[in-house]
Amino acid sequence: MPLRFYNTLTQQAETFSPLQDNVVRMYTCGPTVYNFVHIGNLRAFTSQDILRRWLRARGYQLDHVMNITDVEDKIIRNAAAADKSIFDYTAVYTKAFLEDTAALRLERPERLVKATDHIDDMAAAIEKLDERGFTYRSDGSVYYRIANFPEYGKLSHNDFSGIRAGARVDVDEYDKADARDFVLWKAQKGGEPGWETPLGCGRPGWHIECSVMAMKYLGATLDIHAGGVDLIFPHHENEIAQSEALTGKPFVRYWLHSEHLIVEGQKMAKSLGNFYTLRDLLEKGYSPESVRYLLASVPYRKKLNFTLDGLKAAATSIDRLRNYKLRLETAKFPDGSNEKMTERTTAAQRAFETALDDDLNTAEALAAVFEYIRDTNTAMDAGEFCSANARAALEFLERFDSVFDVLRPSTSAAGFTDAEIESLVAERTTAKKAKNFARADQIRAELADKGIVLEDTKEGVRWKRQ
Ligand code: AMP
Ligand code: ZN
Repeated sequence: MPLRFYNTLTQQAETFSPLQDNVVRMYTCGPTVYNFVHIGNLRAFTSQDILRRWLRARGYQLDHVMNITDVEDKIIRNAAAADKSIFDYTAVYTKAFLEDTAALRLERPERLVKATDHIDDMAAAIEKLDERGFTYRSDGSVYYRIANFPEYGKLSHNDFSGIRAGARVDVDEYDKADARDFVLWKAQKGGEPGWETPLGCGRPGWHIECSVMAMKYLGATLDIHAGGVDLIFPHHENEIAQSEALTGKPFVRYWLHSEHLIVEGQKMAKSLGNFYTLRDLLEKGYSPESVRYLLASVPYRKKLNFTLDGLKAAATSIDRLRNYKLRLETAKFPDGSNEKMTERTTAAQRAFETALDDDLNTAEALAAVFEYIRDTNTAMDAGEFCSANARAALEFLERFDSVFDVLRPSTSAAGFTDAEIESLVAERTTAKKAKNFARADQIRAELADKGIVLEDTKEGVRWKRQ
């Protein structure tokens, strides 16, 4: 089966291939660095990481641009309240974003670009839109006249034919179904930061940065543009209106949108106060891999209902995977290969790949892996799994982990809680009694990784943090 993605623009699953060569030109909307990102945001970024990794597994090269929104209303407000420049203020949260995404093993896009490094490019694009008759001015600000772009609404599938001409908004985020002329350039007000440009002193609206930075690095037509579903309207609709008015060419071939992470039926959002940051969860003793696993395990177009129980279940799944890998690495298998098991491995690999080719169906891909683990564990118990089968199984696990990336324990986790250490120590004691020395040693190494040393004494095991 070919690689297929659901395209928001056409509302269909479509076979994917890049426009030029073997390189996928893709753009994703990055964070607004006014605070720590929450795990809802990280769900969007994790699904983009799975997308990246699967495209590479399918033999493509990537040219992926992600923006950092480092000037906008909330940043300006928060920086002023903290008595800092927007640069000093956003530097802290940009660094935190990079740390959080690294902890979750999200690959760095090939280009990570800041809005404030592209102000002149944006001003030039707005001037060009002006020459083409897509803008008007009011009180020094510049607005996009959506009535001049008849295709407005094609991404969100809204009918905006009855829009009120001339109605406009200064804010960047506004109500669905309320199409308004949006702001491209905001004239400087009061003590707000501003840049001197031919448009006057001011700053860009949010939408223009993505059009400009995407096309600067990737050309007029991108292969893929991704983001959360909340960005479809108005942000991505506006990106299309700006970009296509500038070039007269289709802006994006495949639009991929990830669904929300929700808590008790509601979108996780800063404004609702129902959010966890990654840091909150690491402090509670959860590992970054558990968070990564949970975020990746639900296919990106389905809502993900976040619970701490779900995180614990993710940790258990990772344990099963690691124990299985350890068994493959340490158990004694009969020489040679069992043909039936060779076929089983091929079938599992095919099921895994078919699932990911099918619009990144991670749940099906994981199911293929766990069914395989169950079947092959049974075969091992029966002595029907041979050394060549074990090697093939390890290769399959490697293929799995090149996408999911959860097998290696993190060394940079905030650390284990005392209760988790006690529980691992108890598990190690049980493993030793059962002569499962491999597991016992693995636990000792896992703890040592986090700076926890064990001492076997007559009274039992003592542990301490270094
Ligand atoms: P922002 O920093 O608000 O621009 O958001 C960064 C990314 O996170 C965007 O792709 C949003 O669509 C996405 N996002 C925001 N909230 C959630 C949520 N609760 N679940 C999933 N993605 C979200
Ligand atoms: Zn964007």
